[in-house]
Amino acid sequence: MKCPKCNKEPAIIHTQLGVLPGRKCQARYLRERIPPGGRRSVESRLREYATPFWKIMGLAPKPKEIEAERRMKWAGKTYLDVQRERLAGAKQTFDSTPLKRKLLAGKLVSKSKPTYEKRQP
Ligand SMILES: [Zn+2]
Repeated sequence: MKCPKCNKEPAIIHTQLGVLPGRKCQARYLRERIPPGGRRSVESRLREYATPFWKIMGLAPKPKEIEAERRMKWAGKTYLDVQRERLAGAKQTFDSTPLKRKLLAGKLVSKSKPTYEKRQP
């Protein structure tokens, strides 16, 4: 049986789902499909994250939030500008990715020997 999509490669026969497209067509589908919510730019995501929660949910703002927005508008800024400033002032944090990779590969060896002592009652 040939792949129903391209009619070139052999189809995958699933015991419950039946005839499925071939391996190449499935790989292409996974590569090209648009994630849920659509493809979004970094800019639009940044704008969304900068927008306060109460505004997104349509809730009534607290006095503190009204005051913050008033100050922001007075300074002639938008929520995106404030978010950009916040990100610019973000602290560098320790990146544990290389360490984790080493650990998972089993290459992380401790130099000090563990000492097993009897706990004092
Ligand atoms: Zn195919």
